[in-house]
Formats: sequence, structure tokens, C-alpha cells
Amino acid sequence: MRNIDHLIAGTAGIGGGRTADVFDPNDGSVQARVPLGTAADLNRAVAAAHAAQPGWAGTNPQRRARVMFRFKELVEREMDALAHLLSSEHGKVIADSKGDIQRGLEVIEFCCGIPHVLKGEYTQGAGPGIDVYSMRQPLGLGAGITPFNFPGMIPMWMFGPAIACGNAFILKPSERDPSVPVRLAELMLEAGAPEGILQVVHGDKEMVDAILDHPGIAAVSFVGSSDIAHYVYRRGVDAGKRVQAMGGAKNHGIVMPDADLDQVVADLSGAAFGSAGERCMALPVVVPVGDKTADRLREKLIPAIAALRVGVSTDADAHYGPVVNAAHKARVEDWIQTGVDEGAELVVDGRGFSLQGHEQGFFIGPSLFDHVTTAMKSYREEIFGPVLQIVRAPDFETAVRLPSEHQYGNGVAIFTRNGHAAREFAARVNVGMVGINVPIPVPVAYHSFGGWKRSAFGDINQHGTEGVRFWTRTKTVTQRWPDGSVLPGGSEDGGPSRVQDAFVIPTMG
Ligand code: NAD
Repeated sequence: MRNIDHLIAGTAGIGGGRTADVFDPNDGSVQARVPLGTAADLNRAVAAAHAAQPGWAGTNPQRRARVMFRFKELVEREMDALAHLLSSEHGKVIADSKGDIQRGLEVIEFCCGIPHVLKGEYTQGAGPGIDVYSMRQPLGLGAGITPFNFPGMIPMWMFGPAIACGNAFILKPSERDPSVPVRLAELMLEAGAPEGILQVVHGDKEMVDAILDHPGIAAVSFVGSSDIAHYVYRRGVDAGKRVQAMGGAKNHGIVMPDADLDQVVADLSGAAFGSAGERCMALPVVVPVGDKTADRLREKLIPAIAALRVGVSTDADAHYGPVVNAAHKARVEDWIQTGVDEGAELVVDGRGFSLQGHEQGFFIGPSLFDHVTTAMKSYREEIFGPVLQIVRAPDFETAVRLPSEHQYGNGVAIFTRNGHAAREFAARVNVGMVGINVPIPVPVAYHSFGGWKRSAFGDINQHGTEGVRFWTRTKTVTQRWPDGSVLPGGSEDGGPSRVQDAFVIPTMG
């Protein structure tokens, strides 16, 4: 049994307090124990962060970027080990686990260019003898609270930009798969981040509340489910912090009658069922336009779903592995029952799936529903499992309206060969990230990630220049250097100097 520890500068040793079990989802066993920390643990981390941060902020940005370069090398060196560790706690297959780390690493690559991105603005001669310049300064200490489903990528989304900008950072990862976040923090230290600049505290609501209330923490970035995101947003803002809080999702894939259905089915196999559907950018709802399109799509989906291989997360041929824990498995299966009770047609039932030799693992087979309607609770809420719902739309207008009116607005995709329809859809749909023939439109690291409506609270996205904006604040300096020298003909000791007119409200007329 492994004991996973906090990573608080200068201290070690698991406290005597509450702990949580970390499972191996492949066989249902408990493989490790993680402490559920308290405000006292957080206080130690905050003190260490405050001691380290001014020196780090005073380190020139090129040197800070060099730590990012080195960190990238170290993570690449350890990619296999990190992917196996991630897979063993989360349950996603190795290829997906590598993708999880790689997508985070791409944010680190962006951070290697932080000196360029942090450059401020300058106006020479904004008024007579007046220049104005602005600079972006770090906030001090930031914190990140992350979900279980991307234990590599999402911590890096946050701590990369925060630290590159000169902040110290405290990470509170999901207690369900906390080992990779700890390992990443160790690698940051090895890469040259000073002790105290990146620390990891574990815990549940008690630790989250301590972070939200702590006056020494200036900003909080959260990713998780929507109700908790909303709670974190409200409580953090109440405490005077800057908060960005990303929530849940129910992404729709619109299939126009002219779409290449074989391509759509191949895309859906990965986007709806990959990672057992535990992705905030999964496509769990497909909206064929017209009954004929729906019938043709359904006919092709059934054999494609039958061909999906569910296996242990280290099985190189498996499309997806188990879900994260027994409670989540039960919740997904409950949603399937809800769908049946609400009158949706369960075309493929993934419940009761058992993998030989791994009967205690948290596996769920793929499920397909047809004739799902907007009135159904199983449509309105996030299921977060390997379940695909077909919602038939009679026309394009309805297809635009469905994702636009849904409570979540994270991602959406349209599959079509018609550029005009795609362009129109992208412009009008009320969702934050749009894919055109791209099933999972997660923006690259130098753009930014963020949904709309109940998929995100706060107004600044993750990573890219938006991330830099979140982790810094603007200071604007207006300067003039009046000529204080003596007037020609005056003498050194007492001649009149060139005093300018009294400086009143600086209009630049
Ligand atoms: P979760 O909301 O259960 O947990 C997220 C974090 O909040 C964890 O660190 C957890 O310890 C903490 N937490 C849990 N309960 C809490 C409480 N009552 N009070 C305060 N903090 C609490 O989410 P999860 O199950 O780990 O992750 C899956 C969810 O995250 C899904 O809804 C998914 O859509 C969402 N997600 C969203 C994005 C996005 O960018 N929009 C990305 C990934 C995941």
C-alpha cells in the first residue's frame, strides 16, 4: 500500500488525519492512500509560497522560461512512467494517458515563450513630455483545484502560466488520482523551480474551503463539475479573489445530411466512448438532421459500437478502460436506467459488462440511446460515461437551437460538407468552443480553452494569452520628466528653473 504525501516545502510525513483510498480501477483494489488535508496544512504551504515568491517574481522571465524548458525535457523523459501511473489510477488507456500529459506539455511549451508574452505596452508622447507604459505583474500566490479526468493536462494548464508569470502556486488535485500531479511538481523542482513555488496539498471540500477563504491566496483556478464550480466561484469571489471556474458539459455533434457518415461514426467512436466518456470535451449527444440521416447513422453506429473493445487500461488494443471508481460506475448505470424510464430507446445496453479476470474492475460497456428528447433529465444533465444519445432534429434551425439552449456550453461540433452551413453554425451557436468536422475541438495551447453558460464561471479562459491575463495584473505608469535644469542666463545657485505649468487633470487635447 502506497502512502501519497502532500508536497509542502520543507516538510514531509503523512499527518494523522483523514485519508481517502485511491483505487486501481482495473481490478477495484485500493492501491494507495492519500491524506485529506486541513487548513493547518494549507497554512504551511502558503507560508512557504510567500517566502519564495518575491525572489521568483524578481527572477528575469528568461530564467523562469528556462525552468519550463527543462521541465518539458524531464516530463518527456518520464513520459512512459507518468502515463502508466496516470492510467493505473484513472483507468484511461496508455495512449490516452500519454495524450493527457502531452496536451499539458503543450501549455508548458507556450510558457517557454513567456518573456515575449509578458512584454507590456508603451506609448511615447501620450501628452506633452508624457509617456505611458503598462506592465503585467504576477498576483503573488495562486491556487488550482483540479478534477480527476485530466490529472496531467489540467494541472499543467494552470501551474505552467501561473509560475512562468512569476507567481507561486498551490495545487489541490483530485483525491481520486493524485499521484501524477505530485510527480509533476517533483519534476518542476528538479527542473529548477525554487522550493515553495509549486506545492501540492491533498484533500476534499475541507481543503477547498480553506483555499477559498485564505487571505494569502490571490487567485483560484478551478475545473470540475458545475455545481461545485459555481460554489467555488461564489465563495472565492466573496473572499476577494480572482476566480475562474470551469464546469461540466454536454457537447452536441450535429450531423448534416451531406456529412460523410463513415467519418462521423469513426469520429464518434473516439469522441463519445474514448476515455470511457470521462472527458469534458466528449461528444455524448449526436444530432442527426432529418430522419433519414438519423436512420442511416444509427445503422452504422450499431456495428461500430459492437466492435469497440473494452479492456484493462494497459491493453494496447483496448479502445477504453474502466471508469474511475465504483461510485461513478453506479452513477452512470443509474443514468442509463433513467433514460429507459423516461422513454428513450436503449439500442445498445452497456450495463452488466464484466471483463474476464477483472470482474471487480469498474468497467461499463458502451451504450447507445435513440429518440432522446430535450424534456428528458438524462439529456439535460451530464452523464460522463460511455453513453451516446441520439437526439433527432428535423432541420438545421433545430440543430442550432439544441446546443444553444442547453444549460452547458462547453464544446460543440458540426459535421458537414457545406461550408456555408458550417460558417453559419459557428457564428450563431451559443457555445464556447466549436469544431467543424472536428469532434473534440480542444483549442491548441496558444489559443485558450473555455466554455460558456454553466460550463464556466468567471470571464477569463485557461491558457494562451488569456491564461497569462488571469495570472497577472496590469500596472500602468504615466511618466514625465520635467526639465529641472536652470534657464539659459540663470546661474547655478538661484536662477529660475523650467517649472512647467501645474499638472492638472491630464487631458491630451
Ligand atoms: P468534481 O467537481 O467532483 O471535483 C473537482 C474538484 O473539486 C476536485 O479537486 C474535488 O476534490 C473538489 N471537490 C469535490 N467535491 C467538492 C465540494 N463539495 N466542495 C468543494 N470542492 C469539492 O469533478 P470531477 O468528478 O473530479 O471531474 C469531472 C467533472 O469535471 C465533470 O463534470 C467534467 O465535465 C468537468 N470537467 C470540466 C472541464 C472544463 O474545462 N470545463 C474539464 C475537465 C473536467
